[in-house]
Formats: sequence, structure tokens, C-alpha cells
Amino acid sequence: MKYAIISDIHGNLEALNAVLQSAEDAGCEKYVCVGDIVGYGANPIECVQLVKEKVAFSVMGNHDSAVIGKTATTYFNTAARMAVEWTQKALDDESKRYFESLPYVARPAAFTVVHSTIKDPEEWNYIFTSDSAEQYFPYQTDSICFISHTHVSAVFLSDGMVLPPQGRLSVGSSSKYMINCGSVGQPRDGDPRACYVTYDDYENAVTFQRVQYDIKTAQEKIRGASLPEVLAARLEYGK
Ligand code: ZN
Repeated sequence: MKYAIISDIHGNLEALNAVLQSAEDAGCEKYVCVGDIVGYGANPIECVQLVKEKVAFSVMGNHDSAVIGKTATTYFNTAARMAVEWTQKALDDESKRYFESLPYVARPAAFTVVHSTIKDPEEWNYIFTSDSAEQYFPYQTDSICFISHTHVSAVFLSDGMVLPPQGRLSVGSSSKYMINCGSVGQPRDGDPRACYVTYDDYENAVTFQRVQYDIKTAQEKIRGASLPEVLAARLEYGK
């Protein structure tokens, strides 16, 4: 089975459509979402509808949780908090009910999926380094755990190695892998293209994918919705 692992769509419909097309072209049969379907972008309802239609499994992201009042926005920065408040008003009840149904951690096949960390996922801690990854490997039972939340793709191994998140990666059997699949709708690694990964469980290989999309239109919609300007500007730089 070939999976598309997508995350941090953040209401960016242009990026989501481009990624879904790319995944279809790559022959993906099942789609998994690692959370944060909304927040920042101007098309939250459309993105939730598309995810419900195309994605087999999704887990809860901190923005999804914040718009239904399950996570306080106290620690969000001003632009993020304004985006949550805007999204709360924009979303319909059906989308909010969908968020209510999302688990924090899922095991859609022989791998684990969590937005933040496998232990205490609702605390929304970030894993940026192998040192922080190390404290969570003891709780990981599968060979692979897909994470997201930082908007920066990464590969951490339980033996302490860090591999570049590029191209095709054969998954070995001597270590556990924590793989950050990056962000569809708001990449922050300096590359503005939408990011996701494919996972082939027959070949046991993960491939990092980057996809061009219509950034200008996504920016115009953010500006048209009077969301903070920084949320439009950053899409162009991938920061
Ligand atoms: Zn996010």
C-alpha cells in the first residue's frame, strides 16, 4: 500500500489541491492527515470538506483543537490567536463536529501518527532536535512514527542519527524512525513549496515530496479575509 502523509494544511486550499493531485499522480492509495487542517489560511471549511472526502485517517492538531475550545490560545502568538478567532467564526458546525471526533494519536496501519508527541500529545510540545526526539522513542512501539507541528520536515532515528529530509529514504530495521512530514499549507524551512511524504509499506520506503502551488491566490484570499498580513507574506518565503 502506498500512503500519502499530509499535515499542517492550515486552510490553504491551493496548496491542498496541489498536494492531493501530486499524491494521486504518485499512485497513493490511502491518505493520512497529521493534524492542523485549519488556522492561518482563508479556506477552512473547504479544506475540512476535502480532508473528510479524501483522507482515511486524521489526528488532532493544536489549531483544530483550539477552534473547538479544547486548547487555550494563551501560548499562541498574536497572529495565530487572531487566526484561531477568525476560523472559529468562519467554520460551520459540521466541521467543528469533525474536529470533536479526532484522536490525538492514531495507528492507521503498522505505523503511528501524532501531531506533536506520542506521550502527552495534548501538551503540544515540539520536536526540533534529536535530543527532544530521544525522550519519546521509549513510547514508540512501531518502527515509524509520523509527526508534524514544527512545519519543518525531519528524520530522527532512535540511535541518535538525524537524516536529511530529502528524496527517498529506505527504512532500516535496527532503529526506530520519527519522521516529520513537513507542512502542506505553511512550510517554514525556507522552501515555499508545499511539503508532504509518501510511504510505501511494501518497499518500506518514505519519499519527501515538494509541490509548486498557486501561492499568489492563497495570499490574496488571506488579505481579502483581513487576516494578519504576516500570514500572507510568509507563504512566499516558506518561513
Ligand atoms: Zn501547524
